Amino acid sequence: MTVRDDLDRFIASERDRFTAELRELCAIPCEASDKGALDGAARWCRERLRAAGFADARELRADSAPALVVAETGAGKRTLIGVQHYDVQPAVPLELWKSPPYDPAIRDGAMYARGVDDNKGHLLLRIQAVEAHRAVYGELPIRVRFLIEGEEESGSPNLARLLALEPELTRGEGALKEGGAIDSQGRPLLSLGGKGILYCSFHVRTMSRDAHSGGATHYPNAAMRLAHAFASLMDPRGRVLIEGFYDDVRQPTAAEAEMLERMPFDAQATKDVVGIKRFAFGRGDDDAKRASVFEPTCNVCGLESGYNGPGSKTVIPCEAAGKIDFRLVPDQDPDQIAELLRAHLDRSGFDDVEFSAEEGEHPYRGPADAPLVRAVAAVAEEAFGKPVVLIPSSGGTSPMWVVCNARRMANVTLGMGHPGAGAHAPNEHILMENYWRAMRATARLYTGFASQE
Ligand SMILES: [Zn+2]
Repeated sequence: MTVRDDLDRFIASERDRFTAELRELCAIPCEASDKGALDGAARWCRERLRAAGFADARELRADSAPALVVAETGAGKRTLIGVQHYDVQPAVPLELWKSPPYDPAIRDGAMYARGVDDNKGHLLLRIQAVEAHRAVYGELPIRVRFLIEGEEESGSPNLARLLALEPELTRGEGALKEGGAIDSQGRPLLSLGGKGILYCSFHVRTMSRDAHSGGATHYPNAAMRLAHAFASLMDPRGRVLIEGFYDDVRQPTAAEAEMLERMPFDAQATKDVVGIKRFAFGRGDDDAKRASVFEPTCNVCGLESGYNGPGSKTVIPCEAAGKIDFRLVPDQDPDQIAELLRAHLDRSGFDDVEFSAEEGEHPYRGPADAPLVRAVAAVAEEAFGKPVVLIPSSGGTSPMWVVCNARRMANVTLGMGHPGAGAHAPNEHILMENYWRAMRATARLYTGFASQE
């Protein structure tokens, strides 16, 4: 990286220390199953924030849930909320990693570790950027508040409850979402929203035990029963048939439609990556692009029933199970969709098909016409040297509704992930060059957001 000014000089001078800190944080194996590691990571974040001048950094807790680390520093009219998380996805299967997931390794300018992209690298660079800002420009002209949770990868089940303990924690003028990335051409991707989710497990039992398939003329087959129930949820064009499902879907604004227009979408590459010639549901390329941003989904994640071993077994299965995730768009409400789903099954004669909603998160799409979005676009373009791409909503889910919805607050990503980063997959890594660029952008944002019209 060419050194342009004092900010670059400071970041360059602190590189070794900042890199060592990132290794230290990534060495903590904070998967959902490891309570001790989650506690360790919360403590690590709290101490790191204190060292960066967040004197009040503390851990908020409810029952035995992992702590929400909260901290605030700076002074000014605006408050920027950094919504981040320290928990990570499981690293298995371990044999696919070239170096151990919790022994961070640097190869060819990249750091490899579970969580280094999602989301430890992002959360740490936002803290280190506060330090850089203070060293180079002096005191922050805005308040920066961090909300760093430890259950994001499990659907943030306690975040709303924890924030309800101190409602002023969500008071602010904009939020920096977790993560963030650049595309294959080096353009920073600014995501202004995310889809919600309703995750359901289904079960149906048709008889007290399996039966000889000679009785298939009169014994009810559980696999067929569940297949029919699932088929009733969606037509072959991909339209969800649950009554009321689309009622709360918000139409894109003119600005969002324009954003979609300008959003690059490589249809061929999107097909090639999974070896298909055509998109599902007969969607053309433009329609696939539009749907990826604005359409909710109904997706069967798994199905299980009867005999699937070698050879044959002529049996009528008495039980079947399956899982479906619905990715939701604003302003669909996961609890309400679950009610509509139950009503649909009952009305369609599938009252014997049981389901339980295992995870529910609201979608959130913030305003594009907001000072924060303009400020992030300016600093990202400057730091990465490429125009930004605005994305009204990305396909994934993060808990921004809980933080932003009451005030319709703008939220945006400003990050350094790259297309091959492998978040949630083996050999997750970041390019250190991008890490320093994102840190520069973030330090400049802390000043830029204060005066942005
Ligand atoms: Zn994440």
